[in-house]
Amino acid sequence: MNYKLLASLFFIILFFSSCETRMTSYTPKEKDIDKPKNIILMIGDGMGVTQITAGLYTNGNQLNLEEFPIIGLHKSYASNDLVTDSAAGATAFSCGVKTYNGAIGVDADTMPVKTILEMAEEQGLATGMVSTSTITHATPASFICHQKVRKLHEANANDFLKTPIDLFVGGGKKYFEEREDGKNISLELRNKGYVVSDYFKEDIKSIEMDPSSPLAFYTAYENPVPQAEGRDYLPTISAKSVEFLHERGKEKGFFLMIEGSQIDWGGHANESNYIITEMHDFDEAIGEVLTFAKNNKETLVIVTADHETGGYAINKGSTLDSLVTAFTTDYHTADLIPVFAYGPGAEAFSGIYENTAIFDKMKEALGFE
Ligand code: MG
Ligand code: ZN
Repeated sequence: MNYKLLASLFFIILFFSSCETRMTSYTPKEKDIDKPKNIILMIGDGMGVTQITAGLYTNGNQLNLEEFPIIGLHKSYASNDLVTDSAAGATAFSCGVKTYNGAIGVDADTMPVKTILEMAEEQGLATGMVSTSTITHATPASFICHQKVRKLHEANANDFLKTPIDLFVGGGKKYFEEREDGKNISLELRNKGYVVSDYFKEDIKSIEMDPSSPLAFYTAYENPVPQAEGRDYLPTISAKSVEFLHERGKEKGFFLMIEGSQIDWGGHANESNYIITEMHDFDEAIGEVLTFAKNNKETLVIVTADHETGGYAINKGSTLDSLVTAFTTDYHTADLIPVFAYGPGAEAFSGIYENTAIFDKMKEALGFE
């Protein structure tokens, strides 16, 4: 055999095999995806783009929401209606299923579905919810309760005994303590080690939230009234709740849901000023959460809404100080809804996706099976 030919063959093979090695070595490593330790999901009920716009312009053309680097849109529709209600809307986030209007933590066949909050508890994370409605109202209820129809406030209150949630803050003391079935859920919570308080009677700023015990904190007998003294608790309590859960979730992290409930009620009432004051309150709470997240660096913050309410519009003749507004309905609409994300894992929230994808993305970010 020709020695020269053999040698060149050898070099050709060597060349190609080195090419191959070089090619594989050039293949980018699978991207290290930032995983958050904590998730704070903030829901502005009924907060469509116009609600945000109105809040922005009437706040000197500035909102904390502007600090979010990642923005997406979700498709808010329910399984049985293009226009969702808050129960189906929140269940999409909490359980990752498209379900019917009125469903609380159950799927379209009325079967209970495990929520992200329940999963977080199972995985050893600290969990909490803060709301400016009754804590048994559709949005918070969908994260811990499983009921075929909404508005079963007493049944929802009973479900708070089934998951060892570390903290909940909201109205609805009545549904825990003065029930038609005579049960006292607050007493049962105390027996489980909770500190249960009527903090709405106290000065909100001076409240101590001791992380050594789980905490149930009623802000009103039923729904917190916007004009009532102490009603502007959302920013203060959000900041305190984050610190509380940060301490309790030191080892494995925490999941916190914060709801600005009454942006929706301003929409139902077709009252622009109601929407705007609730938007400012919610955005102030966002500011508190961002302050924590920027410092903490292990927290993914997601801000979104379940749906838009009112078919709210800002019309010609408006100025920054004075908006000319209009409404097309006293119910919700089918608008796409903005999603804002900040922190490790935020990139996953850009684009357009189903509302249920918010559950999937949170679950993925926390590494739950
Ligand atoms: Mg709500
Ligand atoms: Zn509503």
